[in-house]
Amino acid sequence: MAIVADDLNSGAMADALSTFPPSWVLTGAFALCLVAGAVLKIWLAMRQIRHVALHRNQVPPAFSETISLPNHQKAAGYTIAKAEIELLELALGSIVLLVWTLMGGLSALNWALLRWLGGGMEQQVALVASFVVINGLIDLPLSLYQTFVIEERFGFNKMTLRLWLIDLAKSSLIGALVGLPMVALILWLMGAAGSLWWLWAWGVWMVFNVVLLLIYPSLIAPLFNKFRPLDDEALRIRVTALMRRCGFAAKGLFVMDGSKRSAHANAYFTGFGAAKRVVFYDTLLSKLTVAEVDAVLAHELGHFKHRHVVKRVIALFVLSFVGFSMLGWLATQVWFYQGLGVQPNLDAPNDALALLLFMLVVPIFSFFVAPVFALFSRKHEFEADAYAVAQTNGRDLATALLKLYEDNASTLTPDPVYAKFHYSHPPASERLARILV
Ligand SMILES: [Zn+2]
Repeated sequence: MAIVADDLNSGAMADALSTFPPSWVLTGAFALCLVAGAVLKIWLAMRQIRHVALHRNQVPPAFSETISLPNHQKAAGYTIAKAEIELLELALGSIVLLVWTLMGGLSALNWALLRWLGGGMEQQVALVASFVVINGLIDLPLSLYQTFVIEERFGFNKMTLRLWLIDLAKSSLIGALVGLPMVALILWLMGAAGSLWWLWAWGVWMVFNVVLLLIYPSLIAPLFNKFRPLDDEALRIRVTALMRRCGFAAKGLFVMDGSKRSAHANAYFTGFGAAKRVVFYDTLLSKLTVAEVDAVLAHELGHFKHRHVVKRVIALFVLSFVGFSMLGWLATQVWFYQGLGVQPNLDAPNDALALLLFMLVVPIFSFFVAPVFALFSRKHEFEADAYAVAQTNGRDLATALLKLYEDNASTLTPDPVYAKFHYSHPPASERLARILV
């Protein structure tokens, strides 16, 4: 897409289009939201740290029979360590964002590549690719620290450095194989599909997401983990009966070697239509009884029964539509680039630049609506819990959840405000209170 008007031309028409809004308005709004968001995040993380530390030395009365003090303290330590990492991430992320935008990093990278490659498709793809690689490299130390220091300290990490490196190589390769053609296609649409390019790009992006969802379980997940059919006969019979009772047909029941990387336990239900499959982490099966696994699966089925998965996909469709239409408009506005510290090239397409700037700044503005999504997510968890209670035994679900909270070192005493803002799952006390009525 060509830029509609620019500050460098002095035609009356160009001025009328480019002076409203002046680019400093965007700079100001961006800086304000960045600072306000950071202050809010710091305040929330500090609340969480203080609240958890305050309740560290006493197991809440409702859990005093089931959770030991050492495990309660371990959960407190882990929660505080994670909140501290969040602060570190915030500091690093804000600096990186400022360097890319207002301090001119993205602009400099763009112009260096323009001088080298000229203003064509290669330059555009190269800009996106080098941006992704540089950002990935910046994130590496923190990711290493999280896995080999924090997770290690609390006994969750099962990864060797070798496996970590192999994972990194594999995911980078898949990212390049899948992502680069996709980026090239979107950039091509931006240049070739006229002013409604964003509608086409949105369609392509949605198809891409659905295809990814379809092929992930059978093609991508097996590159990272081994899946074997569930061979525990008692559990098979129990789970099959539950699925029949709930009206589900699954293609298969699988066990995944989650213990290869982490001691955290989980179970999930993937796929569409007749290709649905149930996947249990081996770490889950080793910790829960047959009845508890049954209850956890019933919770997952509850998400399907209440159409939470479909609702999430629809929300993704709608949000992407809004995003792409905004990008379609912003990409043609010179103040969008200049307001974010980038000098666009008026003789060549700036599509890659627009795409990257948009991805960089959207989280700054969307952070303030994140609690709404967290609220819906927690509502869905309550609904899935209620479904599990109706289909299985509430006691089993309660003991299963407690074991999972304990094993994952999830705190039983989060700060209420922090939980309202960030938690996708309701705190244990709220969930158990509803399950055990
Ligand atoms: Zn759930």
